[in-house]
Amino acid sequence: MSTVKAYAAKSATTPIEPFNIERRELKPHDVQLEILYCGVCHSDLHTARNEWGNTMYPVVPGHEIVGRVIKVGNHVKKYKAGDLAAIGCLVDSCRECDNCKEGLEQYCSNGMVGTYNAHERDGSGITYGGYSKQIVAHEDFVLKISDKLPLENVAPLLCAGITTYSPLRHWKVSKGDKVGILGLGGLGHMGVKLAVSFGAEVTMLSHTPSKEADAKRLGAHKFLLTTDKEKVKSMHNYFDFILDTVSAPHDYNIYLNMLKTNGVMVCVGAPSEPAHIPAFNLIMQRRSFAGSLIGGIAETQEMLDYCAAHNITSDVEVINIKDINESYERMLKGDVRYRFVIDMATL
Ligand code: NAP
Ligand code: ZN
Ligand code: ZN
Repeated sequence: MSTVKAYAAKSATTPIEPFNIERRELKPHDVQLEILYCGVCHSDLHTARNEWGNTMYPVVPGHEIVGRVIKVGNHVKKYKAGDLAAIGCLVDSCRECDNCKEGLEQYCSNGMVGTYNAHERDGSGITYGGYSKQIVAHEDFVLKISDKLPLENVAPLLCAGITTYSPLRHWKVSKGDKVGILGLGGLGHMGVKLAVSFGAEVTMLSHTPSKEADAKRLGAHKFLLTTDKEKVKSMHNYFDFILDTVSAPHDYNIYLNMLKTNGVMVCVGAPSEPAHIPAFNLIMQRRSFAGSLIGGIAETQEMLDYCAAHNITSDVEVINIKDINESYERMLKGDVRYRFVIDMATL
């Protein structure tokens, strides 16, 4: 075991603060990373504040991790000390169930192990995430990253990137599709970049007027202010696909009504309140309402390789870890363009 500096939330109502954790000794297939950057996902905030009701304290958030390999177990083939590498939202799964065999580890029937706030499969404890100096994980859950892209801009791909890439690919969004991306935050800005790169006609659906210029700069073809009732009406039965990334409770029906016949709305945003959806909003145009969770390991690697090949990264504001609590407040106000990333040298 080695003692590692980290930042943790000790309760739902106290700030994130310095905290020491133990990282395990390397097992034969383990990789140890020195963490260089870690993105700040809204899921970190939901979890730190127990908004989903499942937080085990103290919790060390962070699942958009990039770093450098400092040590590997004696059976590790894929990595060696000195390599750049990354870890996303999961660090283990059973590898035996049908989903794991298909590369859908995030839906492991025996329970995937999240990078933080999860029980290790061997009962050895709770996982701690990337707001820390180092992390140890099985090589199967460690990803390769390009040395051509700036690392701080790559970190958010590990959650915001894959969470938007996976549903866009699963529902085969491509040239000619009319796509709405709802919510311009960490996930939303990656959703816009990826959907545009897949050839779709992309409309940014946002409740913040000041984000219009950014939406266009990110590649969106259109911008719709979702508080403008007339404009909303003009988009009824318009989209093939809507990706909902909103973190706060909102009315899903406004957007379901924007789907045309056979259109699909996929929820990735995860507010703590349940959705109220009259069946008729789905029945009348044979619309679908679905959800999607991050992505599997092979698909995450595919996304990282795709982003490297197409020069796609996240727009980030790099922060000192001491400013983590203030950045949570700013994220809640939508005051982030478009992802905070912690420089781990400040820990
Ligand atoms: P974020 O950066 O805070 O962005 C959320 C966006 O939602 C905001 O920028 C804002 O966009 C919109 N929004 C916020 N409050 C709103 C309100 N009251 N009404 C309407 N719109 C509002 O968050 P994020 O990191 O992208 O995460 C978004 C959500 O996805 C979170 O709930 C997170 O937990 C979840 N998530 C899910 C997965 C998954 O696997 N499914 C993975 C990662 C994250 P506008 O200003 O443009 O309206
Ligand atoms: Zn996340
Ligand atoms: Zn499994």
